[in-house]
Amino acid sequence: MSLLLINASVITCDENGTVIKDGAVGIKDGIIDYAGPVQGVLAENYERVINIKGKAIMPGFVNAHNHAAMTMFRNYADDLKLMDWLFNKIFPLEDKLTEEDAYWASSLAMLEMIKGGTTAFCDMYMFMDKTAEAVAQCGMRAALGRGLQGESVEGPDHRVSEALALYKNFHNSCNGRIRVNLAAHSVYTCSFPYLEKVARLAREIKADIHIHLSETTDEVKNCIEKYGVSPVKLADKAGLLSERTIAAHCVVVDEEDMELLKEKKVNVVHNPGSNMKLASGIAPIKAMADLGINIALGTDGASSNNNLDMLEEMRAATYLQKVITKDPTALPVDQVLRMATVNGARALGFDNVGEIKKGVAADLIVINTDKPWYYPKYNEKSAIVYSGNFSDVEFVIIDGNIVMEKGQILTMDEERILYEVQKRAY
Ligand SMILES: [Zn+2]
Repeated sequence: MSLLLINASVITCDENGTVIKDGAVGIKDGIIDYAGPVQGVLAENYERVINIKGKAIMPGFVNAHNHAAMTMFRNYADDLKLMDWLFNKIFPLEDKLTEEDAYWASSLAMLEMIKGGTTAFCDMYMFMDKTAEAVAQCGMRAALGRGLQGESVEGPDHRVSEALALYKNFHNSCNGRIRVNLAAHSVYTCSFPYLEKVARLAREIKADIHIHLSETTDEVKNCIEKYGVSPVKLADKAGLLSERTIAAHCVVVDEEDMELLKEKKVNVVHNPGSNMKLASGIAPIKAMADLGINIALGTDGASSNNNLDMLEEMRAATYLQKVITKDPTALPVDQVLRMATVNGARALGFDNVGEIKKGVAADLIVINTDKPWYYPKYNEKSAIVYSGNFSDVEFVIIDGNIVMEKGQILTMDEERILYEVQKRAY
């Protein structure tokens, strides 16, 4: 299918922060084949032309750290410490979760993400084959990993078996829309030999690694007490760190940790909403970005956030860096927009995604900027980051396919998903 979007401000999220006024974006076979002034393109070369005058086009958001099925626990246990929340509230509920529950809760997350302009996400959880099914159906792009944790490396391990089956069945499936990684939960839920095992398996099958790393002061303190080194150093010792590693959080990191993350070219995912809600602290994102580390942005699961709104994450990210550095120039608009788009795509291993330019995969969104909070239109990028609204997203296109048109999701049954999730809520 070919499609041409015309008369919009095109926010490219390229390295120069280019915006094309009165622009057009042409799509053929899932790839952007034109991005430029509307006068430079012939409408008759496309099967469908959509006039989106007065609105903005930008790359879709990449939510680089999520637990989609945890929407099932949204607003169930709030205002608690991470370990109390996780071990006393969430883990007991997760024991009761069925694969059908996971399917519908994942679908709910995808419904929410698409509505808010997210076109790709990275997920770590159980029943991941059900999440993968929902991704295949809804048309999103995703990097999925069955969460792995354990002490012993001897004997059968159902989690590892599921992770490897997921890799075999879904990696690079759906025209490359789905990637599968190995997701070691954390250094506090995996023994050191277990972490080494995951690293070895990932090398064997050439899979990416996704891990929670240095999220809280307690995690770091306990790790140093137990192993004598920080979680970042421990993960490196286990062989987990490389340019194909997605490390969520990295809140409590010192200079040596940051140097190591840089040296190993690890992708760091910042989750400001979750870090604030769980009082984990403020990750030194500006310092890490200044070192040249690729920084992406994520929401974390909906039960520690409690939504999957990437606009809110962008705003929280830039505000927090301004606060922690006492410097209002920290993490400016162009930088945070790239964190939420192309940096995330790179972190997830989708190399040709995340910007609007010729030859790049057509994952893009249309934001209706014809709303009071975008006026006057001095700078649409600023308006989106600082005053934009989740519900202003009107069109979502992924891999060249229209997934949402004028607010209507075309690939999922919204009413059914809401019904099924409510029915299954505990
Ligand atoms: Zn997480």
